[in-house]
Amino acid sequence: MYILSVNSGSSSLKFQMYDMPEEKVLISGTFERIGLENSFYTIKLNGEKVRKEKNLENHEVAVNILIDELVDNKVINSLDEIAGVGHRIVHGGSKYSKSIVLDKNILDDISKLNELAPLHNPANISGVYAFMKKIPNAVQVGCFDTAFHQTLQEDKFRYAVPDLWYEKYGVRKYGFHGMSHKYVSERVMNIINKTKANVIVCHLGNGGSISAVKDGKCIDTTMGFTPNAGIVMGSRSGDIDYGIIPYIMKKTGMSITEVDNELNKKSGLLGISKVSSDSRDLDEKVKENHKPSILAYELYVNSIVGYIAKYYVELGGVDVLCFTAGIGENAPNIRKLIIDKLSCLGIKIDEEKNNECRFGKEGVISSTDSEVLVYVIPTDEEVVIARDTYSLI
Ligand code: AMP
Repeated sequence: MYILSVNSGSSSLKFQMYDMPEEKVLISGTFERIGLENSFYTIKLNGEKVRKEKNLENHEVAVNILIDELVDNKVINSLDEIAGVGHRIVHGGSKYSKSIVLDKNILDDISKLNELAPLHNPANISGVYAFMKKIPNAVQVGCFDTAFHQTLQEDKFRYAVPDLWYEKYGVRKYGFHGMSHKYVSERVMNIINKTKANVIVCHLGNGGSISAVKDGKCIDTTMGFTPNAGIVMGSRSGDIDYGIIPYIMKKTGMSITEVDNELNKKSGLLGISKVSSDSRDLDEKVKENHKPSILAYELYVNSIVGYIAKYYVELGGVDVLCFTAGIGENAPNIRKLIIDKLSCLGIKIDEEKNNECRFGKEGVISSTDSEVLVYVIPTDEEVVIARDTYSLI
């Protein structure tokens, strides 16, 4: 059964087409700069990547080209061969705790959450409509980034703010990166062959979040009402004292939108290092003994170690600690900085194995005498979408 796994952003659309249940990727691609000048797309088929410059006015145009590419490359003979399309939808609020088959009524209901994810949900939804129009016979499925965290108990998802803020305005912790946390925690439980285990997943990419997973269920996570909560990230501050916001507004004359923008796009590793949000750039600077870049890593590592320690206590001990996403999968230097700070919990690194696990290589990186297993697990959010879509069909 052919299933498309789709991630529509405000100016991009990424897809992978799977033959399910074998989970074989047949073709994948990315449409970029949709609605902007110099738009283009890339298609990956049989190990070859082709880039084409094309005017992509909107998502509908991108979807039409995508389907034409599937036919032209003989991946499908007719549109009816696509049984389902699974869509990443960033925010499912408190209501959507599982993936769901989408229709117009449900999409209208999900649109009510747009205020909670103004940059993402509208784009996700316009992607769904574009596919509904082009392939009306395919089942459209919504998979939510927040769903995996809906198992948090109230004492973990509420903030100590006036009750009305929660009851009337939905102010609570939602958590994000859910499909990655789900994939990685399930994958590692599979590897260690256990259904009961305490797992901490560190999703360290440009955005970053950590989750505490007990017997497959998420009990806590670092991102909150918005993705800016929790650990230090590439360009996001992570947790700060909220009192800084009115203080900076008064001092600089910046509007709340401008401060919000600085906290999301100009803070984190970028804000401290004044160099870049990308760890590869910072690595170069650290080699030159560039003090702000060294400090940026110190803040980054401290925030991660702090949450691992917190979740160690919340879980009542940890069986496996996992690293995933851009930095988690590819930066042994940062993994070592983190693990070295966890030695009082009996967590120890095997440096050789740590250096080997990069560029998509999965494996254990803890030493044989470590009290906690440490794994690098390359994440795969697309396959979670394909699996959920397949099982709903
Ligand atoms: P993601 O958001 O998961 O795509 O992660 C993107 C981030 O991962 C980049 O901004 C880099 O900081 C980091 N990253 C990606 N590839 C590498 C690499 N080969 N070595 C070190 N860091 C990497």
